[in-house]
Amino acid sequence: MTVLDSETAKRSVRRATVDDAPPTVGPNAVIQTRAALDALAGRSARRSIFGAAGLERFADADPDAMIEADTVNALNRQIAAKLDAKTAHAVMKRAGELTGDYILANRIPKAAQWMLRHLPAYIAQRALMAAIARNAWTFAGNARVERGAGFIAIHDNPICLGKAGFSSCVWHAAVFRRLFQTLVDPAITIQETECVGWGSEVCRFEIVRVA
Ligand SMILES: [Zn+2]
Repeated sequence: MTVLDSETAKRSVRRATVDDAPPTVGPNAVIQTRAALDALAGRSARRSIFGAAGLERFADADPDAMIEADTVNALNRQIAAKLDAKTAHAVMKRAGELTGDYILANRIPKAAQWMLRHLPAYIAQRALMAAIARNAWTFAGNARVERGAGFIAIHDNPICLGKAGFSSCVWHAAVFRRLFQTLVDPAITIQETECVGWGSEVCRFEIVRVA
């Protein structure tokens, strides 16, 4: 079942990531983070963070193509460095929610969304997990995405900062949470139980139902 409408983009990404080309991810990892910074930290803090990350070119203009993972990492590193931990976490979470909203508005056909919402939840969950794995290029470049009954794991996540004492994967968790809550079950939440950012070997997201 094809749930996400992304074949064209996927082909162009494959071309762009052959051989030793640096890993790339979808531009929402910058666009929605900028919006989240404006909302939660203010425009002047956002400009300073974009400047420190060397991203002046995206201060007022959206990237219109895939972007290198290092660009996203430079931005997330400055968010961790310049904001207090609580605000940094909130910014990454909001950016992920906005990215989830973008995917719902632009990437998943409305008919597929209707179908997912009307399928039994365990079937919808499996279908959505398969779609997420197929579209991993948008959020994890060429990383290996593993999925099991109740989890998604990203191996060598190119936009995790490494053992930095900060989890930029709050963004991934928020993207997944938005999709699962909207399309499968509002009672689902996503918990990142392991993150390379905190010293683990893998970034692992558990799909849990809250009472
Ligand atoms: Zn992580």
